[in-house]
This record gives sequence, structure tokens and C-alpha cells, in this order.
Amino acid sequence: MQDIRLLRKSLETKKIGVLELVTELLQKFEDNSLGAVLCVNKDESIKQAKEAQKKIDAGISEPLLGVPCAHKDVFVTKYWKTTAGSRILSDYFSPFDATVVKKIAQSGAICLGKSSCDEFAMGSANQNCAFGTCLNPWDENAIPGGSSGGSAALVGAGHASFATGTDTGGSIRQPSAMCGVTGMKPTYGLVSRWGIVAYASSLDQAGPIANSAYDCGLVLNAMAGFDPRDSTSQKIDKVDYCELMNGNKEKAGNRPLKDLVLGLPKEYLAAIYSEDVAFAFEEAVRTYEKLGATVKEVSLPHTKHSVAAYYVIAPAEASSNLSRFDGVKFGHRSSGATTLDELYIDTRSEGFGAEVKRRILVGSFVLSHGYYDAYYNQASKVRRLVLHDFEATFKACDFLLCPSSPVVAWDIGTQPDFGTSFNGPENVPKEYLADLFTVGASLAGLPAISVPCGFGKGNLSRRPIGLQVIGPHFSEQRILQIADMFQTVTNWHTLKPFEKT
Ligand code: GLN
Repeated sequence: MQDIRLLRKSLETKKIGVLELVTELLQKFEDNSLGAVLCVNKDESIKQAKEAQKKIDAGISEPLLGVPCAHKDVFVTKYWKTTAGSRILSDYFSPFDATVVKKIAQSGAICLGKSSCDEFAMGSANQNCAFGTCLNPWDENAIPGGSSGGSAALVGAGHASFATGTDTGGSIRQPSAMCGVTGMKPTYGLVSRWGIVAYASSLDQAGPIANSAYDCGLVLNAMAGFDPRDSTSQKIDKVDYCELMNGNKEKAGNRPLKDLVLGLPKEYLAAIYSEDVAFAFEEAVRTYEKLGATVKEVSLPHTKHSVAAYYVIAPAEASSNLSRFDGVKFGHRSSGATTLDELYIDTRSEGFGAEVKRRILVGSFVLSHGYYDAYYNQASKVRRLVLHDFEATFKACDFLLCPSSPVVAWDIGTQPDFGTSFNGPENVPKEYLADLFTVGASLAGLPAISVPCGFGKGNLSRRPIGLQVIGPHFSEQRILQIADMFQTVTNWHTLKPFEKT
């Protein structure tokens, strides 16, 4: 799949028609060879394609007009089912579109369907989806990452120009890294949460997954903006997220980043588990140095508590958000119940998967009388300390650079291997630890991007690695510029699974 600007040129010069493009891609969505698609509505996609073609024929030119995309299946949609990857919503149709879905449709982009995700966006591997496994387009034995695994896999495979994702603790950045695409988690409050099936409301944030930083900027331009329906939506002046991006090597100039100070959090560096990730990351750091940036080590001292704090706060909020799925208001209702209690118990027992149940139990426990102070309150304090860590480092450097994940994509059906560095209880999924480099920015509400920066070597040679840039609140424009600069001098983001050398 071409990048968005090239595709737009082909559409405007009539090299290709929107309908022709959409028909070809819908076939891929229907074939669903990666298991990345949860719902297709051919008629609606074709209707959107015809409307876009009419506008193009009338001389209208918009950055996303006629561009094909997919929405993670946690964005509610009127014309596609919204399951959130859960049996409890297996036949659910929303009476309205999420704000993001509406804004993207208004931009003229074509929705090809809904993409697979972990159930209620809980997971790091897309293995918690109730509707089957999603494969990594680079290596079908590998997980695509989660929870926006379907979105990242579809973009990685070239089946869509871009896709939406949500990131609560890493779910845009980590699957983007593992599928070799670019994904951005914006500042909390920049993109409306209205119509997103809620997981952990104080952390959930929607963002774009695309082929490059520039494409992410184009999509973010369409997604961002104040929404009175979301009480945490921020009123900020309109920004053109593409404004600072060159997008071509000639304009990048000599040492274009010479005034930039990039911090490398030492606690993250010490926790990189994979040698391949370490190698790719060191190369990326050298690239930034060649571009003129100054690189220095910084400290985020509360990193060691961040995963634990996240896995208290996120389940706590989830346990409350998921109480609405009771067999009365939405989705699945158990048929055999004879009392109200039975209706609740049976509906939820049948509808939720194991990981969701685990989180509801953990969340209810940490919020319960007697344990609230010991767990939820403590975790909230840690969250504040994590934010202070970032605020302090942004006095010493402009942006932070780190890998998006300590490991490359692991094998489907397994958990990541952290050797002896994982000393949690046996029954805690090891994949929680794979979120170490992403949950910090989420707890602090900061924007961050993941860009492709290489591949694992040896028998993991087809598994992409992601580089993460984290910045202060509302620094999306600069983060995209920094990522774009990397992409003007590297070509990892242009490689596709079938082209990799
Ligand atoms: N892996 C994290 C979790 O399971 C993050 C998920 C997400 O960002 N939606 O909670």
C-alpha cells in the first residue's frame, strides 16, 4: 500500500478509481487471511467509495478523501457490528458512530471494516480476542501485538492505508512496533473518547496507526479536536500536525536536529530484554546523533513501580466500566436464568473471557473496602510520582527515546520469555511486563509514537522492532517531526513483509 500522499495523487490523477481500490481491498478483508478483521459491510464501504469518487470528480481535494482505513472494534459504528473482541457484544450494533469514526468519515476516508483486538482492549498480544487469533503479517507464527493488533496487522500487510487504535497502556505503540508500522498515542484528552467502548477511562486514548509519521499526522489532523460529549476532551487551538514534517530527504538538511536534546531513560535501557531490541535501538540512537541531536542518559526512578500501578488502576476502572454489561442494557443475555442474580451471573460468566474476568476480580478487589487504601490509593500515588518523573526529565531533555517493547513479538500461544527477570507469581501473565516501556507515558497522559527501527536477528529475523519517542503534553507536532526526521534517513517504515531482505 502506497503512503497516503502517493495514493491521493493516484486517486486525483485517476490512475486508480476509489471503487476499484476499495473493491480490491474489501476482497482482502473478506478473505481475512490474517484473522485481523472482525466485521465487513461491503455495501456501506462501496457507498462511501462512490461518494468519495463523486467528490474527487467534482475537483474536491482533501488529504484523506478516498483513502481506505479500518477501525479498531472498540469504536462504535452504526453500520458495522461493534464487539470489542468480546462474546458479550458479539451481535451488538450501536445506534450511533463514535466521534472519531464520524470525523474520519467526514474527512472522506473509506471504512473497510472493523479490526480485531483483545477483548475490551485488555492484552498485549491480541490473544484475548473471543473471535480467534490474529497473525503478524511479518511472521505468521508471531503475535501481532495488542490490543490494537488487528489494526496494526492490516496496515502492516498493506490491506488498509491507516487504522484507528486505542492505547490505554501501550496498545497503539506496541502492536505498531511488532507489525513494523508507525503508531501514535496522543496526549490524553486530545482525541475524543465518545463512542469508544471504555476500558480504563482515565488512560484510554485513541490514535492513528499508519505507514509513516507523516501519515499519522494526516490522520491525527482528522481525529483530534474538542468534543463537548467527552468531559475530558481538551480545548486547544487547532494544530496542523504535519506542519513541521519535511517528508523528504533533500529538505532535511545537514544536522537538522542540532538543537534537540534526547533523553534515554536508564531504567528502560536496563530492562531491554532482547539483544535484537538493544541492537536496533542503539542504531537508532546513532541515527539521531548523526542528525545532530544530543543524546544523554536521564532517570525515571519510579519506573519499577509503573507496571504494578498500571495493573491496579486499569483493572479498577475496568471493573467499574464493565458493570454495564449485565444482560439487561447491552449485548448478550443468558437465556436460562430464572432470577435477576442468575441473569447477571450467567450473562457475565458466558460473555466474558478469562482475562476480562481476572481484571474484574482484581479491580473489584483493589477498590473494595479495606483494600482501597492499600492498593488503589497507593497506585494512584505512584501514578503521580511517575508523572513527576517525566516532568523532571523534560527539564533535562526535550524528548525521551526508548524502544517500544523490551522484546520482539513472541510466538502465538505463548507468553514472552523474561527469564529470571520475571519474578511475579506464576499465574500472572508475563505479557504484563512487556508493557514496561509504554505504561509510564499512559499513566502520565503523555503523547508518544512508535516507529519501525529494524528487525530481530536469527530465528526472529522477520519480527519488526519499534523505537519510541515520548514528549511533554501536547507536543504531538514536534514528536511527529522527530519521528519524520528519522524516517527521512531510514527506510524501515517503507519495507513490507513480502519485500524484506
Ligand atoms: N497491555 C495493556 C493492558 O492489557 C495495555 C492495553 C491497552 O493499551 N489497551 O492493559
